[in-house]
Amino acid sequence: MSQDFIPAAKPIIGAEERAAVDAVMATGMLAQGKQVADFEIEFSDVLLDGRASVAVNSGTSGLHLGLLASGVGPGDEVIVPSFTFAATGNSVALTGATPVFADIELDYYSLDVAHVESLITDKTKGIMPVHLYGHPFAAEAFAALAQKHGIDLYEDAAQAHGAALNGKKVGTFGKFGMFSLYPTKNMTSGEGGMVSTSDATVERNLRLLRNQGMETQYENELVGFNNRMTDLHAAIGRVQLTKVMGWTKQRQDNAAFLTGNLEGVGTPKVAPGAEHVYHQYTIRVPEGRDELHARLRSEFNIGSGVYYPVPNHRLPSFNRVADLPNTEIAAKEVLSLPVHPSVTQNDLERIVTAVNTIVKAGA
Ligand SMILES: *Cc1c(COP(=O)(O)O)cnc(C)c1O
Repeated sequence: MSQDFIPAAKPIIGAEERAAVDAVMATGMLAQGKQVADFEIEFSDVLLDGRASVAVNSGTSGLHLGLLASGVGPGDEVIVPSFTFAATGNSVALTGATPVFADIELDYYSLDVAHVESLITDKTKGIMPVHLYGHPFAAEAFAALAQKHGIDLYEDAAQAHGAALNGKKVGTFGKFGMFSLYPTKNMTSGEGGMVSTSDATVERNLRLLRNQGMETQYENELVGFNNRMTDLHAAIGRVQLTKVMGWTKQRQDNAAFLTGNLEGVGTPKVAPGAEHVYHQYTIRVPEGRDELHARLRSEFNIGSGVYYPVPNHRLPSFNRVADLPNTEIAAKEVLSLPVHPSVTQNDLERIVTAVNTIVKAGA
């Protein structure tokens, strides 16, 4: 194997990020402070058309606090996908509410509107679909459904920085939206999360909950957490924010090349009016997905990823019985190919040749 390994994901950390961290170190003020405050304002400007954002120490904390700030708690149900990262359902369970797992549709792998509606009960407090792989879910349809039933819409936008539907950015549809800043996401702060909201009460609750329930020291208003972002992490995030739109363009260009040249596999669809930011470039392989995954690595030195092989309702942590046929199909057939901004033209050609060769031979 003479050619370099092409990883499935690769965070880009440059000299500017290192200098920004160093500058914070030099001040001696490391915890949540001015960097975090500036990062929140800049994140709102660049990615949220001005909607307010609140920084926390991880995406998972962002979902957890967003739900708590929206009044979700014991006795409530929140409808979530099973085909997602575990944090989606975990964050609901951590509030004491019950995650109710619904099926997905197979075009964009996001929650199926009709199946969600069939699961709404008098305990349902809200619906939390995921903008999976960077493709926006049917946000307008879900907003209408939530309104019809008098419940809330929350957005897990962990993978979808800058994605939009009909010109409206994700993270501006729901009561709150959450963006993860984990290293493999479209931009990073090391670890971190950003919660968007246009509801002043939710915003204030988020600011209280991340900081021991206090706005003024020793005047704690409620029982809260220490889920603050540090100024070191915010400094990294601020630099990344200046680059994320350019990286997204590269992801989209890489995706266009793959879609134009791959043969014999299902390439990602894009809904009318949707801006897909390709956190993942995910193909469907009805036969031999696992062989393709293994042979890309062993014969062509190309990384790929299965997101997600085990539907969350079947994880030992939830262990629920549910009939979610599309979820089971997706878990067996999806494969994500490298699409990140460090993938070169030569890499793209290698990926296309490798996939087409293996699939043609009948993987
Ligand atoms: C990454 C991710 C999260 C959690 O974010 P962390 O920053 O890792 O805590 C939540 N939901 C989805 C869909 C994710 O991909």
